[in-house]
Amino acid sequence: MKDGIMQEKNEMTPSLYIHIPFCAKKCGYCDFYSVGYGRGPATAYVEALVGQMGAIRGPVSTVFIGGGTPTALEAPLLRRLLRGAGRLAAAGAEFTVEANPESLDAGKLGLFLDEGVNRLSIGVQSFNDKKLKRLGRIHSAKKAAYAVMLSRNKGFKDLNIDLIFGAPGETPDDCSSELARAVELPVTHISSYGLTYEKGTPLYNARKRGEVIPVDGEYSARMYSLAIEYLPAHGFRHYEVSNFAKKGFECRHNLNYWRNGEYIGLGPSAVSYIGGVRKRNISDVREYVKRAAAGKSTTVSSERLSGDRKAKETAAVKIRTAEGIDFGWFKGKTGYDFLKLESDAVKKLSGAGLIEYRVSKGKRAGIALTEKGFLFCDTVSSELM
Ligand code: SF4
Repeated sequence: MKDGIMQEKNEMTPSLYIHIPFCAKKCGYCDFYSVGYGRGPATAYVEALVGQMGAIRGPVSTVFIGGGTPTALEAPLLRRLLRGAGRLAAAGAEFTVEANPESLDAGKLGLFLDEGVNRLSIGVQSFNDKKLKRLGRIHSAKKAAYAVMLSRNKGFKDLNIDLIFGAPGETPDDCSSELARAVELPVTHISSYGLTYEKGTPLYNARKRGEVIPVDGEYSARMYSLAIEYLPAHGFRHYEVSNFAKKGFECRHNLNYWRNGEYIGLGPSAVSYIGGVRKRNISDVREYVKRAAAGKSTTVSSERLSGDRKAKETAAVKIRTAEGIDFGWFKGKTGYDFLKLESDAVKKLSGAGLIEYRVSKGKRAGIALTEKGFLFCDTVSSELM
């Protein structure tokens, strides 16, 4: 993307997300839907996806294959999947695959390049072996850094790494070391997420039993503040609450979500949002394959959003971006006057110092999160809903 994140050329063309619901081992903090890998179920699943992709009228503006662990798939299955998805991608589409350092190798990287993948997102999470172990990750810090270097050497220019901060026992100094290591690597994008304790995960249960003590809120806020100071000082623009990118390397797929654009979601637990209707797929891979193979719907819930609900959701996701909400953009996108629709929330949030006005030509032209607002972004989003 050349002209910053306001550029929205493909806004009417949906994005495509494909969920690969297989992982070698479940990480302690993860509540995404995934099961263990098996060649038989994976083959049946990829065939089901190929069939579903055949029924989609393209093109799509971005493709994102996530999970789960897409790189858990063996090479022939990956090729079949990527070829099907690649056929739907518009010319110049961003085409991302998520990779786990443990299952990424030179052969798969070559295959990705052959099939048109132009962006990799590597689940590094940490450069500290003890922390990786505490999180239940199966790879070492060395392997994670190696995966990044190998990807770059094989020809990937657009590389994201995911990092987690605020793991039990982590200090702000530890966090600084992680950030310093991250910017040494040849990456163009860094997603830095605070650890959350999602209900039902092993880490949540361990905390409940008192076996794990979360870092305190002040520490966690300091770690986030470190990231938002350090990464921009090293060339990574803070463009969304948890995301930092070198100029021109913002993730177009996620920008589409934050603009409340349309998207198609394939795979168990995936969500689609087309024509104001949100649909969620069944979270069971066997049942998903069974239904898809029989030509039946894989949707388990469907909701048509009213006009003001769509507009409020747009506000709730768009506020996450550093550019915030431009009132003119909002009116064009939703048909609603932002300050009328959100008058109570705006009063409350600006009174609390969480949002501020953006002024253009002497007039209030939009709102955006303040530094404090970034720390409490979830509160801001739910207030706008
Ligand atoms: S964090 Fe990623 S690799 Fe770990 S269980 Fe979740 S989806 Fe799988």
